[in-house]
Amino acid sequence: AKIRTNDRVHFVDAALSAQYQEQLLLESEMQLALAEQQIEIFYQPQVDGATHHMTSVEALCRWNNPRLGYIPPDVFIAIAEKTGGIHALGDYVLSQACSEIHCLNRSLQQPLMLSVNISPVQLMQPDFVERIAQIVTQSQLPAELLTLEVTENVLIDDTDKVRQTLNELKALKLHISLDDFGTGFSSLRYINSLPIDEIKIDRAFINDMLQNPHSMNVTRTIIAMGQFNQMKVVAEGVETDEQQAWLTEMGCQLLQGYFFSRPVPLDKLKPMLTLKQTT
Ligand code: C2E
Ligand code: CA
Ligand code: CA
Ligand code: CA
Repeated sequence: AKIRTNDRVHFVDAALSAQYQEQLLLESEMQLALAEQQIEIFYQPQVDGATHHMTSVEALCRWNNPRLGYIPPDVFIAIAEKTGGIHALGDYVLSQACSEIHCLNRSLQQPLMLSVNISPVQLMQPDFVERIAQIVTQSQLPAELLTLEVTENVLIDDTDKVRQTLNELKALKLHISLDDFGTGFSSLRYINSLPIDEIKIDRAFINDMLQNPHSMNVTRTIIAMGQFNQMKVVAEGVETDEQQAWLTEMGCQLLQGYFFSRPVPLDKLKPMLTLKQTT
């Protein structure tokens, strides 16, 4: 029995250390990633439910490492949050996306809006608002075209600090969106007291709402709550025509998901848009 116990301990040890090694490797590779321009930004369209016109795009970063291959953002963002690399990464994504969309907008009849994900670690940084203001000004994208997406769980961290930060962002004319909505524990009353312009229904609910009455109820309730509070509602992860039809029927204004388009690089986005007539 002793030997078996030892074996198990040894096995757990080895597994932990393998995980740790992998994390160390990713950490050191991440430091090179920005310098070597390995990180790319893809854009996923958000469409108006009534007209199916693209009104906005969400920036999603992509990391293809020459040695390790494709690493999903969930994985490397979690590491960047631990190491502090998230600040440089977040600044890079924001600055790049704002500049690219500002430039694209010059060729469009209707300007596109842009949504950028912000990590809670960034939001809690003391100079966060100044950094954002500086990057947005430099990019020349009008602030009212930019939406910052924060997850619902950021709201329960330090409520006074969060409230102040969100108010300062609103004073800059930026929009605030609550991502992955419905999965957290924030109370409705609390959310209504914050300057929130948009909520995004978590894709887990959209994914099974046609099979699961609970998910359908949550979806319906969030749409109604958004309408009642004059907040935009986005359904994310829309994959089928049937989901799209139901959501539109229920009054969800904005839709995002593979049914309309996967996240694409900038040059694949352009052909999906109505270009300005050159006269
Ligand atoms: P998120 O912000 O909730 O982004 C939506 C995720 O759902 C994206 O995954 C997107 O590609 C995926 N998605 C969109 N439509 C569909 C669909 O119809 N079906 C399915 N199955 N998936 C769909 P992605 O790009 O892998 O990003 C994962 C997460 O990584 C994001 O979740 C976000 O939390 C984080 N992330 C990505 N880019 C950034 C960034 O620049 N900064 C920060 N802080 N986080 C980011
Ligand atoms: Ca998001
Ligand atoms: Ca989301
Ligand atoms: Ca998410």
